[in-house]
Amino acid sequence: MVSVDACSTERRTRAYLDAIASVTDQPVRTLINTHHHGDHTFGNCLFEGATIVAHERCREEMLAFGPPGQRPFWTEVDWGELELTPPFLTFTSQIRVWVDDLACDVRHVGAPAHTTNDSIVWVPERSLLFAGDLLFRGGTPFLLMGSVSGAIGVLEELKQLPATTIVPGHGGVSGPELIDEVLGYLRFVLAAARSAADAGLSPLDAARELDLERRAVMRGAKKHGLRLERDASLALRGLQTLGIRLERLESSALKIAKWLNSRPEIETVLHPALPDCPGHDLWKRDFTGSASVFSFVFGPGVAAAEVPAFVDNLTLFRKGFSWGGTASLAMIYPNLRRPNRDFEGRLVRLNIGLEEPDDLIADLSRALNGLGTG
Ligand SMILES: [Zn+2]
Repeated sequence: MVSVDACSTERRTRAYLDAIASVTDQPVRTLINTHHHGDHTFGNCLFEGATIVAHERCREEMLAFGPPGQRPFWTEVDWGELELTPPFLTFTSQIRVWVDDLACDVRHVGAPAHTTNDSIVWVPERSLLFAGDLLFRGGTPFLLMGSVSGAIGVLEELKQLPATTIVPGHGGVSGPELIDEVLGYLRFVLAAARSAADAGLSPLDAARELDLERRAVMRGAKKHGLRLERDASLALRGLQTLGIRLERLESSALKIAKWLNSRPEIETVLHPALPDCPGHDLWKRDFTGSASVFSFVFGPGVAAAEVPAFVDNLTLFRKGFSWGGTASLAMIYPNLRRPNRDFEGRLVRLNIGLEEPDDLIADLSRALNGLGTG
């Protein structure tokens, strides 16, 4: 048996394995990952004994992202017991996997599309295409880690395959018409962006001028609960107070950054408006002000293991990533690829919100004083 992708949680992957076991008594001997995203790979570890095959960059990206865990951009997830298990048979352009006499061609698509490491699985004898997340049925394409123009090129190439059955990364099994449906949406987005740029429109004005109702894929999005009109009206309401919020956020963030800079536990405050911050000269040259997000790094006196408790002990700061929000947030920097990895585990990123800065300083001070006592 060959499986194309795993699932995201232990429970889902076990249910998937049970479903496989209900149709065959053969073990899954090969697991192909179409790309590195966790909803396709976190369950890899449950495919005991299987050879895990993927593009080499899929392995790199999985290792860079790390194991499943609570992340600020997800609501809390019950992952179960999962261990990071990257592919260990990797290829650079394509590889052929055999199921008895049935050839399955695993091909990297050659350009950034959904991600940087998308592969398809093409089974010529069955005219069957596993498209991974290059195609969703009934959902808006997701290209934040890839490229719109890259995806258009890739889908145009996929159209050349004589596929009669397509298994998309999300949504039900489809016919080849799905490619045109998604291509139509991507071309629409790109054309709209081009004409808005030519007309000198801001992204928000460009979005307001679009007639999304007519888009078939957006009708799908609507069915899945996206409320574009409401979101747009909230954005417009927020813009009316943006100016005064930014002023306040700048002054609060600076006050707190300077205070942190004076604390002995802290080695560096990474706020570009502080003269000793790397990049200060660039900031002075190119910026007229500063914003509310900055980081600080604990000195050698504070072990990386103590930093999570420090963040937990903050009461006014919630946990999460945001830019310019009204609530203060604190976050340990996750294990992402950064030019300077020496900070790992000792770097805390703050978003300063609209709370009273002295209250925030008191909160930070209390948590700093609690270090080493727990
Ligand atoms: Zn994906």
